Amino acid sequence: MAGNGVLDARDRGALLGRLAAERFDVLVIGGGITGSGAALDAASRGLRVALVEARDLASGTSSRSSKLIHGGLRYLEQFDFKLVYEALRERDLLVSKLAPHLVKPVSFLYPLYKKVVERPYVGAGLVIYDAMEGTRRPVPHHRHLSARGALRIAPALSASRLAGGMLYYDAQVDDARHTLTVARTAAAHSAVIATRVSAVALLRSADGTRVTGARVRDEESGREIDVTADAVVVCAGIWTDLVHELAGVQAGYRLRMSKGVHIVVPRDAVDSSTGVIVRTDKSVLFFIPWAEHWIVGTTDTDFSGDRAEPGATEADVGYILAAANKVLARPLTRDDVIAVYAGLRPLVTAIDNNGAKPTTKLSREHVVDVPVPGLASIAGGKFTTYRLMARDVVDAAVADFGRQVPPSVTDQLPLLGADGLAAVQPAAGRLAEDYGVGRAVVEHLLGRYGTLTEEVLGLTRTDPGLARPLADGHPYLRAEVAYAVTHEDALHVEDVLMRRTRLFIESADAGVGAAAEVSAIMGRLLGWNRRKRGAETRRYLDLVKAEQALIVMDADPAADVAPATVLAGGAR
Ligand SMILES: Cc1cc2nc3c(=O)[nH]c(=O)nc-3n(C[C@H](O)[C@H](O)[C@H](O)COP(=O)(O)OP(=O)(O)OC[C@H]3O[C@@H](n4cnc5c(N)ncnc54)[C@H](O)[C@@H]3O)c2cc1C
Repeated sequence: MAGNGVLDARDRGALLGRLAAERFDVLVIGGGITGSGAALDAASRGLRVALVEARDLASGTSSRSSKLIHGGLRYLEQFDFKLVYEALRERDLLVSKLAPHLVKPVSFLYPLYKKVVERPYVGAGLVIYDAMEGTRRPVPHHRHLSARGALRIAPALSASRLAGGMLYYDAQVDDARHTLTVARTAAAHSAVIATRVSAVALLRSADGTRVTGARVRDEESGREIDVTADAVVVCAGIWTDLVHELAGVQAGYRLRMSKGVHIVVPRDAVDSSTGVIVRTDKSVLFFIPWAEHWIVGTTDTDFSGDRAEPGATEADVGYILAAANKVLARPLTRDDVIAVYAGLRPLVTAIDNNGAKPTTKLSREHVVDVPVPGLASIAGGKFTTYRLMARDVVDAAVADFGRQVPPSVTDQLPLLGADGLAAVQPAAGRLAEDYGVGRAVVEHLLGRYGTLTEEVLGLTRTDPGLARPLADGHPYLRAEVAYAVTHEDALHVEDVLMRRTRLFIESADAGVGAAAEVSAIMGRLLGWNRRKRGAETRRYLDLVKAEQALIVMDADPAADVAPATVLAGGAR
């Protein structure tokens, strides 16, 4: 249903009908953060937009990141001031205006181990970092700390060698939820958002000179549909080169993949009231607060295997534990690890097509390319700068439309759930009373749905059972499962357990205990019979088993392997 930002999984038939019947200005391939951002950018310029995503929204890299919205302190060391400046401006825009319900400031302690050389060096970097913010300051300024001050806020750090610390601020986000919210906001501007629909071929004009749309396949039924559009925008992340192959063209850049693994440990395994960032031999390691957990990572290794199933290995986990334990007083062990997930970073290098003038416009982190008229693609970049990436690729796509297309307006467009947040937050107590749930539950919902919170709670009016928690010890309500179907286009159990909620990485059983209940709630809405409900539950259990097998296969048989969940970096 277009126009109100509702992605109702029950409307799938009508949605596919629209793909077949309508002619679009822009067809976006890929429903990660870049594609969702491009759909929003184009739709909010008044264009007719469709987006097809082969699996679920954010099922690729966009649910597997470090979940930071940050300038990237380490780019300062590479003197990439423009990049840091742009990213910090995006961070501040998201925190203060576009998505304050989703993007929250987070503090990081940078422990110092070499007092004399390190403090002035890191301090100077942070002065620049802070100075690059705009005049409005949605996150606090950095602070210098003594060793004692650092230990006061992060007692988990080993005191030996600690010479002091710096405390600075960035922001964090639930990457999958943010991606979904961007896609819903695009739908609110009339974009057609179709998940589990893959582009399988690109259509050409009669003379073959222009791309005019794509043949797509509904992965649920196998039905193929030709979608026509004035421009196709490829936002397929690590799969971008495969989409170029569908068009029989070569991009003006080469895609490289780098695997990044994170582990998830319980909050009480690391005694700290702040996130921590430490230098490693190769890069940096973050301890990122994540509700009742810490996300610790990441690795950065070249990857050339099966991009759909990169998997984390024992070596990856061992590397993270070893790096973390260099700074912790009480070492983390494998028994602390409740989940592991891996993602693939899409990295790009520009190439000159056989000596021909490259069509590539290279900006430091992302690359926009128009390899053939009617086809624009983007690769690289980072989550933080998705809005700029979206703007750039849409600009490239509409450049030869032969008519005036308005410029991007997404810097003025709060995402769904953001508008009016200031008036809803104080109402948490009232909402808790009205709906008979705890205040903490309402606050949790406000941090996920913002001003749409009452839509979620409203479902409990007709079905009071939905006010019950989905899984013991976790804040999610059963109503969130129903809402995922009726408003967030969840089609399968894994969509709910892996991305609409994050039980897959937050729960020691990877959400397996909740799978049958999720299937039952979804089934009631989607008309699943008993067999189908059972099959959907099994599908999820099989998925979890397959993921766990990846890490166990690589394990040292003598090692005491934790019941870790492995989330492969490719989409499924
Ligand atoms: C370990 C790790 C940590 C990171 N941490 C951060 C961080 O803290 N902050 C930050 O700013 N950035 C971070 N990043 C980078 C960031 O996550 C990525 O740049 C971003 O998520 C990429 O989004 P995307 O939409 O381009 O790609 P994806 O999210 O991969 O989306 C591409 C989509 O295209 C779909 N697709 C592919 N082929 C087709 C087809 N034929 N038809 C239809 N759909 C198709 C896929 O299913 C997929 O969903 C991190 C990356 C990694 C790997």
